[in-house]
Amino acid sequence: MANTKKRFALALHGGAGAVAGRDYAVTEKHLGELARECESWLTDGRSALDVVEHAVYELETCGLYVAGRGSAPNSAGHVELDASIMDGRSRQAGAVAALRDFVSPVQVARGVMEKTPHVMLAGSGALEFARANGFSEVADPATYYSLPVGVTSDDIQDISHGTVGAVALDRSGGLAAATSTGGTFGKLHGRIGDTPLIGPGTWADDDIAISFTGTGEHIIRAGGATAIAFRYRSGVPLPEAIEETLGEIKRLGGDAGVIAVTSKGEIAMPYNSEGMKRASVSTDSTLTVATFS
Ligand code: ASP
Repeated sequence: MANTKKRFALALHGGAGAVAGRDYAVTEKHLGELARECESWLTDGRSALDVVEHAVYELETCGLYVAGRGSAPNSAGHVELDASIMDGRSRQAGAVAALRDFVSPVQVARGVMEKTPHVMLAGSGALEFARANGFSEVADPATYYSLPVGVTSDDIQDISHGTVGAVALDRSGGLAAATSTGGTFGKLHGRIGDTPLIGPGTWADDDIAISFTGTGEHIIRAGGATAIAFRYRSGVPLPEAIEETLGEIKRLGGDAGVIAVTSKGEIAMPYNSEGMKRASVSTDSTLTVATFS
């Protein structure tokens, strides 16, 4: 749909694993500032794809979320990272899974999209690609990775899922989505969740851009982002399209949260967990930052 009003819209999430009673002031401040920065990029006419990549890079490298720097080791004792990115207009997409020791998995995912004929590279293949293409490596993994601020090793189970994501509509009508995670705490070596999967974890087309967070196994089994996109395309209003999909995830035993923007400038950020760190802003709405309802 032509974006004749030159609208833009942005939503960010820092994971649906927020636990009632915890203080999220630091992450809320960070999400608010980042949303403002992305707002100025969109006002200046930057593409949705550049904006979501930049937003997720910032979320990966700040150490406040369970993605990039804030990720925790898997059951084998090392950090394995998943990320994906999708451009709605071209339907180009890129992803990495179980990537070790690169600073920004989302940048590598965009590299896969732009420099290979493939959508996803995993494990040692992703690592070789990232190295060959000069992406920044973590110099000292033993000191680089740190638990998100305010979290100790005693309570990491309580705060599982701190994945990050961004969705944007730009002034030319382009939509894009990106998601990045360190996965779930204590995951098995080689486990891959929804986040790097184009379809369940991340989706963008001409009508909608979506990023998921939550228990990946249930999100995958419910169809995740594409289940919302297909419902929306068939005429189901956005809130209902999301509610039906979140309801299915709940029935399967999981919990999750979603951020979505549409070509009409609609924004939705619902969740069925206790809370989800999130922020949004658009030409039609002021900055919103929240963790709980
Ligand atoms: N969905 C992510 C995964 O299953 C976890 C999260 O959202 O925090 O890997």
